[in-house]
Formats: sequence, structure tokens, C-alpha cells
Amino acid sequence: MRIVLANPRGFCAGVRMAIDVVEQVVDVLGDREPVYVYHEIVHNRHVVERLKAKGVRFVDDLAEVPEGSVVVFSAHGVSPAIRRQAEARHLTAIDATCPLVTKVHSRAIRYARQGYQILLIGHRDHQEIIGTSGEAPEQTQVVESPADIPHLRIDDPDKLVYLTQTTLSTDDAGVIIAALKAAFPNIKEPPDEDICYATTNRQHAVRQIAPHCDLVIVVGSRNSSNSVRLVEIAENVGTRGVRIDDVTELDPAWYPKGDETILLTAGASAPEDLVSAICRHFVEQHGATLHLADVFEESVEFGLPLSLKKLMLANGIDPGDRKVKVEPPVVTAGEYGANAVALTISAKGA
Ligand code: SF4
Repeated sequence: MRIVLANPRGFCAGVRMAIDVVEQVVDVLGDREPVYVYHEIVHNRHVVERLKAKGVRFVDDLAEVPEGSVVVFSAHGVSPAIRRQAEARHLTAIDATCPLVTKVHSRAIRYARQGYQILLIGHRDHQEIIGTSGEAPEQTQVVESPADIPHLRIDDPDKLVYLTQTTLSTDDAGVIIAALKAAFPNIKEPPDEDICYATTNRQHAVRQIAPHCDLVIVVGSRNSSNSVRLVEIAENVGTRGVRIDDVTELDPAWYPKGDETILLTAGASAPEDLVSAICRHFVEQHGATLHLADVFEESVEFGLPLSLKKLMLANGIDPGDRKVKVEPPVVTAGEYGANAVALTISAKGA
């Protein structure tokens, strides 16, 4: 059995930053008061459980947060209405919204001010889409598929712009964008891609490697949009894809012969130790060899949010000039025992 490890996989800079923010707030507040997080900080069950174990309290309604407390907004962003609600409850809001989500919010605000109607491509019930729509609710309509287009209420087809959820499948978004352009030839495009680098790179890696594999395993939670999209990308290129939260959900029926080639990847919110546990399982139980497929190098880094820096300064802590960056996951043969031979398949520039 061969396990091909896609690189990049797993944590992106936005997820790393959001988790760091919560951990920093826990450190700053110590035992003095609990830290609240509005919605799951990132869409991964293990990340959320680990933070809960540190005392973090997750809420889906700000009314559950006692007045005057500290609350962290998740990586997916929130609408202005939620920010106002936090102010009204005298909460100290620490904003862990990914800067690439904030970029789409800024675009929505700008186009709405310029009088555009915004067609927001994405999943209606996803936190990111709820937050972005909230910037200009009167002017924004969500488009989930080409089937939605005939039902849109368009005032002026020459004053339209489309924006996109950051974690969509680039394949699916392309189909919807083409349909929008066919229906509204003068629709305006955003200045550059809204789908983020991490989503795009992880999808490209799967699109390139999956055709050479018997199965694609994606580590990520059910509600992780980018993880679910990776499964769809695998299926689009004709290879079975499955999503699991962790090693306990592996099903041997997926690899009946025992000599399959399996691509292993992870959504942007899935911690690398979950991937390592799966590698260890395949090496120990199936004598698998590990093969590293480097498709893209990532070097994106984000600074700490201003709201966190202010909280740190208010508590006598110098935030410095720390940047949050994700180092590529390192896999060594020694880590998995002598019979796991780590080979590198370089597929850079794909
Ligand atoms: S997946 Fe993209 S948009 Fe979402 S947190 Fe990561 S970098 Fe930001």
C-alpha cells in the first residue's frame, strides 16, 4: 500500500491565526474570566474540543455571553449587526476573522456604496456568507447554483457585481460565474480571485494527484466547506473521495485489496497530528510506504489582529510584531518506523 501525502494540506494561515488568537486571549485572561468564542473558531471538531478543554466557551448567540466579557469572533467573520450587538452588551470583541474574508467584506461594502447589486456565490447557511451578506443585506443575493439565476431580482443588469465565498470549489464557482456572465454580460468581476490561496492550492494538489490514486482520504470535519470541496474535486477527476474526522473513522472496505495507492490530504482547518495518526495506522497495520507529493510551497503570513494587540497592551503584555505563518508539515521516515520509506514526488509548478 502507498500513502501519498499531498503538500500543501491542512492548516492555512487564517486558521493558524484564529487558533493562536484564542490561545493568546486564554493566556492573557488566565483564570480571571472565561473566554467566549462566537461560533466554532474554525470548522474542525478536534480544534474546538481541544479549546473547550482549555476552558473556552463556544456560543451561537451573543445573548449567552455575560455583559462586559471578552468574545472572539471566528475566522469566518461576522456581520455588522453582530458587531453592534456586541457593543450593546459592552463586550470586548477580539476579531479573529481571516484577513482574506475581511477582503471580501470590504469589497461588498465598496460595491454597495457604489450602487451595485451584489451576487454572492456561496452556501447560504455558511457563517462566512451570513457575515458577508450582512454588510449590505438589501443589495446582496446569494447564488448557490446556476438554478438560482432565473429567480434573482435584478434592478439594473449593468450595475451588478459578483463576489465569492473564500472556500468554494474552483470548479463549481467557475460554472456559476460562467452562467452569471451568460445571463448578465456586463456583470462586474472582483479585481482578483475571492477564493483564497489555501483553498485553491489544496484543490489543485488533489486535482493533480488524485487521478493516479485508487482513493482520496480528506481529513476534516463535516461542516468544513473546504474539506468537503476536496472530496468533490477528487470525485470530479474520477477517484473515490471520503472525508473523515480522524483515524477512528477509517473503513477497511475502502481499500479491500491492501495494495492500493491512497492520496491523503486535509482541509485547511484540520490539525496535522490527525494526519500523522492516519499515516501511523497505515504503516503499522498495512505495511504502507509514505510518499510526499510537493505541489505548492506556501509562504502566506498574517499579523495579529489589532483588537488582540489592544487587549494585550491593556494587560501589560507587549504584542511585539509577531506574524502568524504555517510551516509546511514535516514527515520523516524515522517517525513512522523503519519500514516506512518516505519518498518525495516533486510535482511543483503544476
Ligand atoms: S481557508 Fe482561506 S479564507 Fe479560510 S481561513 Fe484559511 S486562508 Fe482564510
